[in-house]
Amino acid sequence: MRVVFVMIDGLRPDAIDRADTPTLHSIMARGSYTLAGQSVMPSITLPCHTSIFHSVPPTRHGITDNNWRPMARPVIGLLEAASDADKRSAFFYNWEELRDLSRPGSLDYSYMVKAAYQIDYGDRLVAEAAARDLATYDFSFVYLGTVDSAGHFFGWMSDGYLEQVRRVDAELAKVVAALPEDTVLIVHSDHGGHDRFHGTDLPEDMTIPWMIAGPGIRAGYTIEREVTLLDTAPTIARLLELKVPADWEGTCVDEVFE
Ligand SMILES: [Zn+2]
Repeated sequence: MRVVFVMIDGLRPDAIDRADTPTLHSIMARGSYTLAGQSVMPSITLPCHTSIFHSVPPTRHGITDNNWRPMARPVIGLLEAASDADKRSAFFYNWEELRDLSRPGSLDYSYMVKAAYQIDYGDRLVAEAAARDLATYDFSFVYLGTVDSAGHFFGWMSDGYLEQVRRVDAELAKVVAALPEDTVLIVHSDHGGHDRFHGTDLPEDMTIPWMIAGPGIRAGYTIEREVTLLDTAPTIARLLELKVPADWEGTCVDEVFE
């Protein structure tokens, strides 16, 4: 079993229908999904990602803005758990602040190009790098940062934002086309946004799409339970048969399994 986790930063669930997104729609049709997933507070990128990869809320890990600092009380994360199980992991990303989501020694490959603000090509570089190399790894994280940038530039749900959602959906198609058959794909965002901002507890900021598809995953299924950012790592741990660290607070989304 292989897992590819694609993050579309700042993607609001209501943008999936407002923009032309055949790739996201096909993942939902052949997998399980919710359009009512929940971010964490503050709904800011680095706090959210620290929570995703360590399955604890910001009150526990202490990362509350996008500036680097060590976790208040370190937690063993997904990448460490994967490394302990001799799984090979790769990161493909374009926002360099995410480099500290894993401890030194736990990542086998990293592709980073500082291009999250380059909305015309930043995610193309990442998607093409991932498509080229992801088959080598048991776990790949593919971070696409330009939808969030378009939200900050043009406003969430504006024409410019929706056009960027369409473009990133087309880049996502390149990743999907490269997936080996034994791959489970997870796609979600870290937060939404309103006006040109995010970070609050408004539903527009807190509500996220969360979807999963692949062998052993229910097709065309709408997830009934509440899913939060803390539940991604436990779900990936089940797929990769990892030992779940005792500190993790999220739970595996068991109902998506056949
Ligand atoms: Zn973000």
